[in-house]
Amino acid sequence: MPEFLDQEIKFLPGVGPKRAELLTKELRISTFRDLLYYFPYKYIDRTKFHRIGEVNANQAYIQVKGKIRSFEVLGVRNKQRLNAVFYDETGSMDLVWFKGVKYIRENLKLEKTYVAFGKPSVFSGRVNIIHPEMENEESEQFKTGVLQAFYNTTELLKKRFLNTRAINKLQYNLAKEVEGKIYETLPAQVREPLKLVPLSIALKQVHFPENTRLLQNATFRLKFEELFYIQLKILSLKHKRYDAFKGFVFAQVGYNFNKFYENNLPFELTGAQKKVIKEIRKDLGSGKQMNRLLQGDVGSGKTLVALMVALIAFDNGYQASLMAPTEILAIQHYNTIQRMVQGLGINIALLTGSTKAKERKVIHEQLEKGELQLLIGTHALIEDTVNFNKLGLVIIDEQHRFGVAQRARLWKKNRGIPPHVLVMTATPIPRTLAMTLYGDLDVSIIDELPPGRKPIDTRHFYENRRKEVYQFVRKQVDSGRQVYMVYPLISESEKLDLKNLEDGYELMQEVFPRYKISMVHGRMKPAEKDAEMQLFKEGITQIMVATTVIEVGVDVPNASVMVIESSERFGLSQLHQLRGRVGRGAEQSFCILMSLYKISNESRKRLETMVRTNDGFEIAEVDLKLRGPGDLEGTQQSGLGLNLNIANLAKDGEILRIARDMANDILNADPRLEKDENKLLLYHLTKMTNTEFNWSVIS
Ligand code: ADP
Ligand code: MG
Repeated sequence: MPEFLDQEIKFLPGVGPKRAELLTKELRISTFRDLLYYFPYKYIDRTKFHRIGEVNANQAYIQVKGKIRSFEVLGVRNKQRLNAVFYDETGSMDLVWFKGVKYIRENLKLEKTYVAFGKPSVFSGRVNIIHPEMENEESEQFKTGVLQAFYNTTELLKKRFLNTRAINKLQYNLAKEVEGKIYETLPAQVREPLKLVPLSIALKQVHFPENTRLLQNATFRLKFEELFYIQLKILSLKHKRYDAFKGFVFAQVGYNFNKFYENNLPFELTGAQKKVIKEIRKDLGSGKQMNRLLQGDVGSGKTLVALMVALIAFDNGYQASLMAPTEILAIQHYNTIQRMVQGLGINIALLTGSTKAKERKVIHEQLEKGELQLLIGTHALIEDTVNFNKLGLVIIDEQHRFGVAQRARLWKKNRGIPPHVLVMTATPIPRTLAMTLYGDLDVSIIDELPPGRKPIDTRHFYENRRKEVYQFVRKQVDSGRQVYMVYPLISESEKLDLKNLEDGYELMQEVFPRYKISMVHGRMKPAEKDAEMQLFKEGITQIMVATTVIEVGVDVPNASVMVIESSERFGLSQLHQLRGRVGRGAEQSFCILMSLYKISNESRKRLETMVRTNDGFEIAEVDLKLRGPGDLEGTQQSGLGLNLNIANLAKDGEILRIARDMANDILNADPRLEKDENKLLLYHLTKMTNTEFNWSVIS
């Protein structure tokens, strides 16, 4: 049944076909509902006026009431600006325009009362507002008063007079239309314990708040609802899968595991590794398919855990596969694991994009016959031609790069019973993101590093101290250490003014003529890359000049210095991941972040965070706060995070937790939402599946 809110937006008074087309194209608003759920990004209290004499540049958006005493046009022709002296009885300030100078000069009148609105700043010791919004004192705005909602628009919309004010007006028209026609979307048993306001009230208050308290209640209700339904969806999928999918029972821990534990394990497992292996073993014996997320900081020993879990699979007659995000890492896993399981007689193969057809064919055959126990590789593993004889375990070592859909493809490798799945993240991910991106998985956390690790001494240097940095590097290499130098770009084709890798390589040869230098980057052939890595690993070269291809997993314990060039260009989790390449041996390790002097505030915060802490979990939280969830790697593929209308995973962690708990309670009592009281929930859940998320791949 088409609901009232599904009407096309062109039928709303004040819209019409032309504006409708614009709204759809620019803001994806095509129905009444879309507009109703197009929420403001901020509110300004328009009942409050500041005195001009008391305004200072530290204030956020303000409004002042006053008159223009004089105009002055300054600057040369195409760099003109308009300066107006604006005053009240307490003092005066400047209003400045760089654009539309002529128009503004002609339309504003001297000595008439205006309300100027904007963010104050200081220029030449005088307080000003640049590009203020100017409002006639008699305008309607100040009669309706209170909190005014501001909406994001686009340049094109503004040009066609669909600015925030116009949207406000459309919202006003819409509010009149929908009066009495908004149906509640949350049942009483959800609303009452949390004292949530009814949907109709929330929607009204969010666009036209009467006061801050009512606005807060409205926002809470809407954020909660958004997060709640996502959690209900994720958790009901988890329930369904748990019910539907039997899992292979790995009943015993046998020869491989025990032999490895006794003979091959070069060190004691950390307490956290033991705890996590225990959690996983419990899943493997439960008769249900395991879907577990393994989180641990860089260097916490996730690979070893993965290997030991694979050994359990072999002990029970099953094959396993380990999938890595890059070829370098796949090769490294292959080498490491080969070395670690020496003497156990386990057959392992490596399959990547560059595996030759002939070799590939052999691998396929051996897999199908069950002669291979472990297949290590990249995305190539999910190609359809790869068929296992008895795939019992899939391990994904990922860097937020495999989406939900790709995970699902792996599960389908077995007809009938799906393999157990263990997903490992390269660096910790923020809790709120884990609950959404990986919310359908159970979570194990390695919250402890192997003993003897010293925190990496991290410092930030500007260009002007480059010489000192080189001296430091020289001292380190002379005392037997090895050094990574990481560059963000590899060729001059990029417009950005960054030192590229080849220049860096030549420079290093000039600065350190006595040392041998390796270079790896993404455009090299895997074999070349591997050969260079090997030289560095064996200590034949002392300096490794590289792009971020060495970011994940590469393990050279003697390398104790990581120099990151143009570090302001890197994301926080990437920096942390890079830093994790050092600090693996007994020596004190260092991470040096080089940057230009002029960097953005956000870059500065990133670098400060790196200097302040080594804790990946803390860094992940800061990263989320700085970037917002939409930008984080992996959120695109999942389709999550970007679709949030009002909630914000960086800020609304507490609401998310409440929503998840509530969803959990409801599903535990009624997994299929069959009870009468849950009808409404089921209805909206089903609706959601068909529209917002492409969850179908997993269910
Ligand atoms: P990550 O969790 O980043 O994947 P790795 O699995 O690569 O970490 O482990 C990092 C290093 O720590 C490896 O050299 C590994 O052999 C070593 N390691 C793992 N577990 C332990 C342990 N319990 N004690 C000492 N060293 C360990
Ligand atoms: Mg790893």
